[in-house]
Amino acid sequence: MKIMKEEKEECVFCNIIEKREEASIVYEDDQVIAVMDIQPVNPGHILVIPKQHLPFIGPEQNQIGEYMFKVGIQIASALKSNDLKCEGVNYIMADGEAAGQEVFHAHLHVFPRFKNDGFGFRFSEEYYNPPQRNELNRIASEIKNKLVYEINKVRSVQ
Ligand SMILES: [Zn+2]
Repeated sequence: MKIMKEEKEECVFCNIIEKREEASIVYEDDQVIAVMDIQPVNPGHILVIPKQHLPFIGPEQNQIGEYMFKVGIQIASALKSNDLKCEGVNYIMADGEAAGQEVFHAHLHVFPRFKNDGFGFRFSEEYYNPPQRNELNRIASEIKNKLVYEINKVRSVQ
């Protein structure tokens, strides 16, 4: 337990939540805080952060995951209705290091996009050789079986 406490003290988002670190706060309630990203993809880049120190959002954190997205949608609406350059919005949550997660306190990125803003996704060679339908169906079936189980599991604990 000592290790967990030390990890929490080093967490930049916990420090922001507990006001030990400076942040430009856009929104705050008892469940989440939304702050300006200090290294924005585009001006108006905001992070929606749960107040509880959760490294990831899994099925057990279903409720806070929904709430983070709900707040994100409101923020996106505000981004579109002010003077910022905002032709579209990306919602991005990096779940795990391989997905680009750098701070292991879950957070949802909400940021404005506009044509030729320089941001984009890189694709692998595989992307240009898409799978056949039977391969898509095989993978869909594997995921579907797990999904039914997980959703039932989530429902049963609520
Ligand atoms: Zn934290």
